[in-house]
Amino acid sequence: MDIISTYSLLPLISSVVVVVLGFFVWLKRPRDILAILFFLYCFTIALWLFGTFRLFNAVADEDAIFWDRIIYIGVNFIPIFLYHFGLIYCGITRQRVMLIIGYLLAFLFLPLTQSSFFVDGLFRYPWGVHTRAQFFHQPFLIYFFTFFIAFFVNLLLHYRRASQERKMQVRPVLIGFLILDFIGPLAFLPAYGISVYPVIFLSAIPFVLLLAYAIIRHNALDMKTISAEVFVTFIAIIFSAELFFARTTLEFLLRIAALAALVSFSVLLVRGVKNEVRRREEIQQLAKDLQEANARLTELDHVKSEFLSIAAHQLRTPLSVIKGYTSMMQEGDYGRVPKEMKPILDNVYNSNEHLIHLVDDFLDISRIESGRTKYDFKPLDVSAVVADVANELSTRAKEKGLSVEIKKCEELPMVIADAEKIRHVIYNFVDNAIKYSPKGSIVVACAFSKEEVQCTVTDTGIGMDETDRENLFQKFYRGRNVQGIEVNGTGLGLFVCKKFIEAHQGRIWVESAGPCKGSIFGFALLRNSSLSQGTHSL
Ligand code: ADP
Repeated sequence: MDIISTYSLLPLISSVVVVVLGFFVWLKRPRDILAILFFLYCFTIALWLFGTFRLFNAVADEDAIFWDRIIYIGVNFIPIFLYHFGLIYCGITRQRVMLIIGYLLAFLFLPLTQSSFFVDGLFRYPWGVHTRAQFFHQPFLIYFFTFFIAFFVNLLLHYRRASQERKMQVRPVLIGFLILDFIGPLAFLPAYGISVYPVIFLSAIPFVLLLAYAIIRHNALDMKTISAEVFVTFIAIIFSAELFFARTTLEFLLRIAALAALVSFSVLLVRGVKNEVRRREEIQQLAKDLQEANARLTELDHVKSEFLSIAAHQLRTPLSVIKGYTSMMQEGDYGRVPKEMKPILDNVYNSNEHLIHLVDDFLDISRIESGRTKYDFKPLDVSAVVADVANELSTRAKEKGLSVEIKKCEELPMVIADAEKIRHVIYNFVDNAIKYSPKGSIVVACAFSKEEVQCTVTDTGIGMDETDRENLFQKFYRGRNVQGIEVNGTGLGLFVCKKFIEAHQGRIWVESAGPCKGSIFGFALLRNSSLSQGTHSL
């Protein structure tokens, strides 16, 4: 082993890395022409590097020449595989003739490289030996550099025309090529008697790594698996090589054991990386699906809102007409109403009111969602609105056996608000309290602090659990607490209230100790909000 010099180990290491890398890229995409060409290219580079390793260490002249001819089998195909790779990578279809000429030249030079007209005799350098170039070596260099440069030009033109995203993909190939283009050809110099320190062979590694990165660029995660595979294979190869240098049986067995441990560990490592990559890919796919589903839902929601808006507008006018005529009939404008007709008319009127209420909710929602709700902000005394609503609804509460009590607050400060919207919110709270309280009392209270004016409606009704508390203010949400009880509703009222209060920069909330333990609904408006007085569309 003393014949292996440190210099010659560099091409050996490079050769192993390159061929393993090329192989794994090909294994990932066995039918992809780009990956196949990449593997062939790696193979030729590896042949060059491995031959160089043997050439440096050759003792006999014939050995050196033999290995140099092996080198040229690889080197002979480097430019044409590279050029072919470039055509496919850049999507160029118009250079067929040049491609065919390149392959013809490669096959023409192949037998020549094996003759003494190509390389013969030896130069001896401090780091090893190298063959001397002969007559056909120079035309070969012309072929070599023509296709090398053609590849470079194609890539450069492609890069210039590429989109920003594609540029990012092409850049590593370009940089990798530049490294090899400026350093790699120096490897020809020792054939002409010029000694070059042999680390140039290492230039193949960054080049191939960058190229591999570019190939799998569109699926960057794959790169992780490949890197892990290349890494463990490389280490395994070095460990296997170590076996041959064992001096005693015990040492040999120990090294086998170490190798076995390494292989098992490597399998686990690669499997772990693969699993992680797969999981990430799945998550990425799921996120994409979710995004699509979300976009579709938003679109459907929009269509539904449009439909609601149109339907509600069409319904609103006839309902007002019915309301008008019914109340005129009730009041006897068309003659005395017979006794039996009265409850029927009341029923028509109430059902119509119910429908109007529903359609108004729909209209509110459609306006809220399109930002067309009109707000008329003025100084407002909330306690006056509370008294008004409580007064209006107390008859209905009484009919159900409930009492409505107002807890007055002295000198409640004025706030900037839209009276109609605040009335709507308080009305909804009290209306719900009546709807959802079989017995007991309802208390409407106002209070204020340094920052806010608050209004709460407390009832002794059906209460609610935590899930309901968290979801009540969502559109169309009807609580679990109303399942099984006969109370009509749409789940829109509180949603609208929330939107109205939010437009006032206020907050809205619900509290309940649990099912059957009553509820407290409240809202608070800022005393010094930044709302400016006047009419606004929000
Ligand atoms: P609706 O009353 O038409 O169902 P709301 O948006 O006004 O719609 O209310 C949503 C849900 O909140 C109701 O279905 C009910 O489950 C619950 N809820 C509202 N007010 C009360 C209340 N005072 N007590 C108990 N539950 C209530």
